[in-house]
Amino acid sequence: MDAKTAQILDGKALAQKIQAELRDRIQTLQAKRERPPGLAVVMVGDNPASAAYVRNKERACEKTGIASLGKHLPAQTTQTELEELIEQLNQDERVDGILVQLPLPAHLDAVAALNKIDPKKDADGLHPTNMGRLVRGEAGLRSCTPAGVMRLLEEYDIDPAGKHAVIIGRSILVGKPMALMLLEANATVTIAHSRTPDLAAMTRSADILVAATGRSEMITAEMVKPGAVVVDVGINSVSDGAGKSRLVGDVHFESVQTVAQFLTPVPGGVGPMTVAMLLCNTVFSYSQGGEV
Ligand code: NDP
Repeated sequence: MDAKTAQILDGKALAQKIQAELRDRIQTLQAKRERPPGLAVVMVGDNPASAAYVRNKERACEKTGIASLGKHLPAQTTQTELEELIEQLNQDERVDGILVQLPLPAHLDAVAALNKIDPKKDADGLHPTNMGRLVRGEAGLRSCTPAGVMRLLEEYDIDPAGKHAVIIGRSILVGKPMALMLLEANATVTIAHSRTPDLAAMTRSADILVAATGRSEMITAEMVKPGAVVVDVGINSVSDGAGKSRLVGDVHFESVQTVAQFLTPVPGGVGPMTVAMLLCNTVFSYSQGGEV
């Protein structure tokens, strides 16, 4: 038996703890506000993966006492109809958070839709105003997946200060805000991507390695510095050959757990933390009474 196995960063357990704390907080706040917090998840079309994510978010709302005020629009919805709905939700006083579930059908412009969300209700933290606040190190609604990673590191007393953090992926959703948050926490940050030559040399220099590529199990043990903290953001569905599929991350869990000091599992790592941060953002907006 291998004596050395990484400690698991248990996002599922932490997300449950956060949800329990939020439930208590909502009960206290609700006594003053006379209504529960509300989150509107807007979904367009019938992408099965998106439908599963939306169900997950709605279930989490139910458990914490947040009203789900979401809308499911048909696949042929026009840009104008989508933006009109967002405008209605911006005006709706019961709604504290709005999230447009991505990806949208190809005929819709996701960036234009996201830009219509009132920054005060931007539960996903993707609006340019909130992204700009992150760049400037100002308070604001933070994008959920990287915020979830930061909260997970904090829970396990992993201080990024002075560490070399390497993030693989430069998307607006994950890679870029992740880099900014680690920078804010005083890590020295490198962002790698598909044009980075000799990725393995880069990843081997990481004290904290965050993989956000969407490439199944591409990070193997040889690419990881012994004792590193490895955070796997990827969620990839792979076929097991017998007609069934299973979820894997961007990290090859079995091999990397023999090298890393800390490792997030997939599922049960970053995914539940993303949902927990979405709820936190909604409750934050609610607690500010629209003054974020
Ligand atoms: P994107 O496809 O937008 O970005 C992927 C990034 O990875 C790009 O910057 C790309 O580089 C880079 N990349 C791809 N292949 C390689 C490679 N072989 N070597 C180095 N870099 C590479 O994905 P997202 O950021 O939206 O998502 C990433 C993953 O995280 C996905 O699996 C997604 O499902 C998952 N995810 C999980 C969440 C969670 O809650 N756990 C939430 C959001 C996403 P380039 O820019 O050069 O193309």
